[in-house]
Amino acid sequence: YLNRAFNGFSSSSKILVVFFLSGGGLLSYSESQSNSPNNLEHERLACKKKVVVLGTGWASTSFLKDLDISRYDVQVVSPRNYFAFTPLLPSVTCGTVEARSIVEPIRNIIKKKDGEIQFWEAECTKIDAANKKVFCRSVIESSLVGKKEFALDYDYLVVATGAEVNTFNTPGVMEFCHFLKEVEDAQKIRRSVLDCFEKAILPDLTDEERRISLHFVIVGGGPTGVEFAAELHDFVHEDIVKLYPMVKDLVKITLIQSGDHILNTYDSRISSFAEQKFARDGINVNTGCRVLGVSNKEVNIKVKSTGENVSMPHSMVVWSTGVSTRPVVKDFMDQIGQGKRKVLATDEWLRVKGCENVYAVGDCATIDQRKIMEDIGAIFNAADKDKSGSLTVEEFQEIIDDVLIRYPQVGLHLQSKHLMSVTDLLNDPEGNARKEIDIEGFKSALSQVDSQMKSLPATAQVAAQQGTYLSSCFNKRELANFIPEGPRRFKGTGRHDFLPFRYKHLGSFAPLGGEQAAAELPGDWVSVGRSTQWLWYSIYASKQVSWRTRVLVVSDWTRRFIFGRDSSRI
Ligand code: FAD
Repeated sequence: YLNRAFNGFSSSSKILVVFFLSGGGLLSYSESQSNSPNNLEHERLACKKKVVVLGTGWASTSFLKDLDISRYDVQVVSPRNYFAFTPLLPSVTCGTVEARSIVEPIRNIIKKKDGEIQFWEAECTKIDAANKKVFCRSVIESSLVGKKEFALDYDYLVVATGAEVNTFNTPGVMEFCHFLKEVEDAQKIRRSVLDCFEKAILPDLTDEERRISLHFVIVGGGPTGVEFAAELHDFVHEDIVKLYPMVKDLVKITLIQSGDHILNTYDSRISSFAEQKFARDGINVNTGCRVLGVSNKEVNIKVKSTGENVSMPHSMVVWSTGVSTRPVVKDFMDQIGQGKRKVLATDEWLRVKGCENVYAVGDCATIDQRKIMEDIGAIFNAADKDKSGSLTVEEFQEIIDDVLIRYPQVGLHLQSKHLMSVTDLLNDPEGNARKEIDIEGFKSALSQVDSQMKSLPATAQVAAQQGTYLSSCFNKRELANFIPEGPRRFKGTGRHDFLPFRYKHLGSFAPLGGEQAAAELPGDWVSVGRSTQWLWYSIYASKQVSWRTRVLVVSDWTRRFIFGRDSSRI
């Protein structure tokens, strides 16, 4: 860093600067020796910047784990005093793993050798970006003070509150459906599934009543809905059949999906493998159906192909159709001029647009791709100093190299989907290399890329990588003061201390039940079957947040192999 910072200085002046810097350090050291330890500590704390982190999920814990807290005074606010390993939530619904095996107390995670992070079990009710304050309310009712309300000041705020379930305002969903978002949801589902079996074997019921009592409906054919359907199917066929043999043939699992295929964000080979497996397992997959409403007895759906409305009697419905913005974030968006957006927008450095020193990571935010395109357009316009509307090939090449470093995802799209339009820009219709590049032509090629660029998925993988990226930026903040022009000298308008966030996709899994899973791995690799399920076991065991949860999860899997799942309704 020093080398870069003093690039351009002669070697002797570099030695002088380093000498002065270290001398300064020695001087301040000897000066501070004269202070009492208490004063020293006080001084250190006084100059530490206050960081408030909202949430104890994937994004915030990966931020907190790597943050150098000797530089910051950190406070964490969340209504949950634990971290939950969400990818194993579907396994909790049927008792394949126990709820306590996938959670780790947040105080274990934030315990650090070089200082203390304070944790408040409370929810943030309001973010006041203008006054750099967050307002919080304790989630525990106390007879003394009720639900205690308090405010915290911050220098930097990290919003990592995740998202909430999206019902799309469908009537009856909030009242009559189960969700699979939190640990409590999974525990509730586990109890309700067992209730359905106990209800179905009560005396004097007709066969039709027993059949309805055992009709499980899952709305949403994404990874969570599919994984829950697979778990439920395994639970019924491996454990329940032995305990409730009289009703085993009446069980029905229906998966409703509005798109044409389940797992439609995955490679088509995976979605067709999943559909074939579910067909063999007897799980009904109703694709192309939209849910119009849910009551305590029925799910009303519209079949898109025929326009027909159908009512489906059910015993329980699990709603898993995606996520939306939490009210506290929505209110914050209104304050900072993002009220018209659906999701809180950040730039590629994860800074919230429209306010200062607020960062947002994980499911609560999205990187604004449209703004990236505008920024790139501005970089090209700034380079066109004589306003001729064109750049020489050399100028163009130099700028595009910089743009591709700053915005790697643009590079990927330019190279794959829109190579033709860029080739057209560089060559004339006869195929001869152009001497000058038309800026507007390039911008219109970019707009095609823009429509192809999608937001990052709302996954734990993205959230964790963003948390790690942000903590490394925080840790290097002081070093960055030596290189104010940033690690790369970007041309035109943009100069930043750090490289932008880059997401590295490490692959995604879809467990499909019966010890089979599908995986989409980097490099367009698709793997399905039993070996993939073992890969899933090993990766999910290794990704556990602590050795304690790792041991608990592996022992739950072993217990399930030997004794089956526990079907007590507690
Ligand atoms: P979260 O992990 O949801 O954390 C949000 C935190 O904010 C929580 O601690 C919450 O209590 C807190 N909070 C909420 N409101 C407030 C408030 N007002 N004030 C303060 N704190 C607040 N992703 C994958 O990559 N792979 C998978 O296999 C996978 N499987 C999944 C399975 C299920 C069933 C679910 C529900 C999700 C799954 N995901 C998976 C997605 C993944 O869980 C999310 O993308 C990830 O949790 C997002 O992390 P986050 O930190 O943004 O939010």
